[in-house]
Formats: sequence, structure tokens, C-alpha cells
Amino acid sequence: MSAPIIIAIDGYSSCGKSTLAKQLAKVLNYKYVDTGAMYRALTLYLLKNQIDIHHPEMVAQALPNIQISFGLDETTQEQFTILNGENVENEIRINPRVASGVSVVSAQSEVRKFLVKQQQAFGLFKSIVMDGRDIGTVVFPQAELKLFITAEPNIRAQRRLDELQEKAQTTTFEEVLANLQKRDLMDTTRADSPLLKAVDAIEIDNSYLSRDEQLNHVLQLVKGLNGNAH
Ligand code: C5P
Repeated sequence: MSAPIIIAIDGYSSCGKSTLAKQLAKVLNYKYVDTGAMYRALTLYLLKNQIDIHHPEMVAQALPNIQISFGLDETTQEQFTILNGENVENEIRINPRVASGVSVVSAQSEVRKFLVKQQQAFGLFKSIVMDGRDIGTVVFPQAELKLFITAEPNIRAQRRLDELQEKAQTTTFEEVLANLQKRDLMDTTRADSPLLKAVDAIEIDNSYLSRDEQLNHVLQLVKGLNGNAH
């Protein structure tokens, strides 16, 4: 059996990072952690409790009251996000206030410290795929495999629109594209842990790759690592 590794996946919004991470976790029998879901759930807590997301001190005070974990739906085998005991998976994906507030919240250093600590604890025993914005740079700079995923903005917006429409949400291509671009700008320009490609990350543009093509490509990379015992 090959040695367990950490796979860190970073990239822009709606690049299919989570899809790839889930596929990899399934094939390799690894744990999967969606760190974007953690930032979204934390944002949802603040909004629900009328905490002003633009006030880092108030946000920091609320952190000890926030517990985020993941559950597994036995029927669909899909992971879901739990906020203080409640399944919030659907809400964090479709609530437009979460989509527009999350990058304001995730730019705050206290929030990042709080969540990064939990994310690092998840990876203690390796055998993990984690996706987000700072996984290869901050959370697991020692990860054995780092991927940086990109895709053309229009293609990303269309994928996200399809996802929202599947969940019966009414929105437009323009609205979705504007949200992605705004989040990308905030995520790449924030002072603390901006989204950037780690120097040792492998970049994959999946604009014209099918999910399976991308998965096979990455599995070859994993195989290559296992060939070089580490
Ligand atoms: O991945 P997803 O689009 O769900 O992430 C939502 C937001 O959470 C991102 O736009 C970003 O602001 C924040 N995020 C982050 N660091 C991570 C994961 C997500 O700042 N590791």
C-alpha cells in the first residue's frame, strides 16, 4: 500500500475544485474537506445572528460560539456541512447573502486563524484531500501534491449557474459571473492569505477537460508520487 499523502487543491471560485476533490477522495478512499463550506457556514452564522460582518471585532467575539463539522448522508453518500448541530448544506450554497458576504468574512485574520487551526487538525493523519484558496500556501505548505485549478470565467459562471438552477434557484448568468469576479478579486487581493498559486503547485486549466479527463490526469500525478517513495 502506498504512503498516505495530503492533496491540496486551490483555485478561483467555481473551478470545479470540489468536484475533483470529491472524486479523488472516493477513488483513493481519503477524507475530503471543503474549506469553502467552512467559510460559508461561518458567514451564515454571522448573518443569522445579526452580527455585522464588516466589524472584525464583533466577528472575532462570535467565533467561540461557532462549531462547524461535516456529516455523511447515508443514502446519497454525499458529505454535508453542519453548523452548531444543524445541516446547513443547502442554505450555504443557495443563500445569495452568503455568496456576497463570504469574501468579506474570509479576509479577516481572526476568522482565518480560527478555521485554519481546525483544517490543520483534519490533516493530522494525512490521507486527505482539501480544497480552498490557501491550502497549498498556508494550511498545508508541506502537502505532497498541490494543484492549482483554473478555468475561463465564462465557463465557470455557466457551471455555477447550472448548479444553482439544479437547486431551483432563479438567477442570471450576469449575476453569477459578477459574484464570481468580485469574490476572485477580493480573494486574490486580501492582505491575509490571498489566493495564489504555491510555487510547487501544478496548474490545471480545466476549461475544456471533462471531469474524468481531469481526474485521470491527477491520478497519474498521484501515481508518479507513489513511484518516488516519500
Ligand atoms: O470554495 P467556495 O467558493 O465555496 O468558497 C467561498 C469563499 O470562501 C471564497 O470566495 C473565499 O472568500 C473563502 N475561502 C477562503 N479560503 C479557503 C476557502 C474559501 O478564503 N481556504
